[in-house]
Amino acid sequence: MRDIIAGELGGPTVFRDRNALTYEYLPERLPRREEDMAKLSRIYRGLLQGGGAAHVLVMGDVGTGKTALARRFSEDFKAVAKERGVNIEYTHVNCRRRSTEGAALLQILTHFDPRFPDRGFSNTEMLENLRKRLERLEAHLIVILDEVDVLLKKSGSDLVYHLTRFNEEASRARYSVSLVMVSQMDARTLLDEAAQSTFGRTNVLHLEKYEKSDFAQIVPYRVELAFNKGAFPLDAQDAAIDAASAQDVGGARYAVDLLRKAGQNAEDAGRSKVAPEDVRTAAATELLSDEKLEDLDRHKQLTLLAIARVLKKGGAFATTGEAEEAYALACEEFQEKPRAHTQFWTFLKELDSQGLVRTRRSGKGIVGTTTLISLPDTPAHVLEEKLLKLLRRVA
Ligand code: ADP
Ligand code: MG
Repeated sequence: MRDIIAGELGGPTVFRDRNALTYEYLPERLPRREEDMAKLSRIYRGLLQGGGAAHVLVMGDVGTGKTALARRFSEDFKAVAKERGVNIEYTHVNCRRRSTEGAALLQILTHFDPRFPDRGFSNTEMLENLRKRLERLEAHLIVILDEVDVLLKKSGSDLVYHLTRFNEEASRARYSVSLVMVSQMDARTLLDEAAQSTFGRTNVLHLEKYEKSDFAQIVPYRVELAFNKGAFPLDAQDAAIDAASAQDVGGARYAVDLLRKAGQNAEDAGRSKVAPEDVRTAAATELLSDEKLEDLDRHKQLTLLAIARVLKKGGAFATTGEAEEAYALACEEFQEKPRAHTQFWTFLKELDSQGLVRTRRSGKGIVGTTTLISLPDTPAHVLEEKLLKLLRRVA
């Protein structure tokens, strides 16, 4: 059997660094975001000039590079600050996973002390602990609150309020906390009045969707990072640029998924070069990244699960009634209280606008008119499996 394993390992590989196409990977450069990087630098310039904290909201659709930009900026800003003798620390909080003030604070403290106990401290105590650490280190902390709308909706504005108010107590700006809020929506609308006044209204960085000319730079760069020289030829890159710009949702995230999948297709076929057809096959099958599903609220995941289950039975579409019935069952299965009909309807509309389902009004013939729901490109059973995995993981 060892020869089988060895044989498989010895096959041609197109990848130089497969890791460079994972979600955690943070590229050195972000082509087409140079101007946004410059804006962030101007917003935070004060930190290097003895000034105080600054806050910003980074807004944009899925795959516009919000997370990558916030992390890249913090990382590089920290390095530049260090050369100038200023101690910047930063930490990235995924508010979808850490959706309460306590969970987020714990993650921030873990940045300073990986063994910080995960229970036994109140929020007030954790805030005080953080303040003492920053004071001792004379550090300016940048907290990236990613997908912050999830936390704000679930737990209110306390975290933002407490962290931003910190700076009022800091003596002569020797330490501070700055927030980079990241969200697909205008998260300021979710802040209560007190938090709004400490967060400030001014700094918003709106990341526009990438267009073809952007992908024409992003794709070759990501190819260079991840693939062997010549393994992803220009004609295949063009196919990827076309597919990414034709796709309405997913942005650069979609493009990166596509490159990985296309490379995998070539490798599975035992070839050492990616062909345009590998890209097109990838585009036809892998429109749905796991992360896109992960980004949905739990109830939208349940709605989608319900639709997948109805469609798995073989029909071309699900009616709203069928979907809502399956949704109620799915809620029961995952111990959630089903939302009211109007809310369910909103979930459908939002899933539609995100390109995850397609809805249209039925013609005559079906009792009255109803809305018919279908899945644009994913086999229902694949979607069901992915959602079950997610729903079981984050209870
Ligand atoms: P968002 O947080 O807005 O959904 P991400 O920051 O997660 O988007 O970006 C999605 C993927 O695309 C990541 O793999 C990221 O590294 C990559 N990416 C985004 N913008 C660029 C860019 N300008 N150049 C290269 N890669 C990019
Ligand atoms: Mg993100």
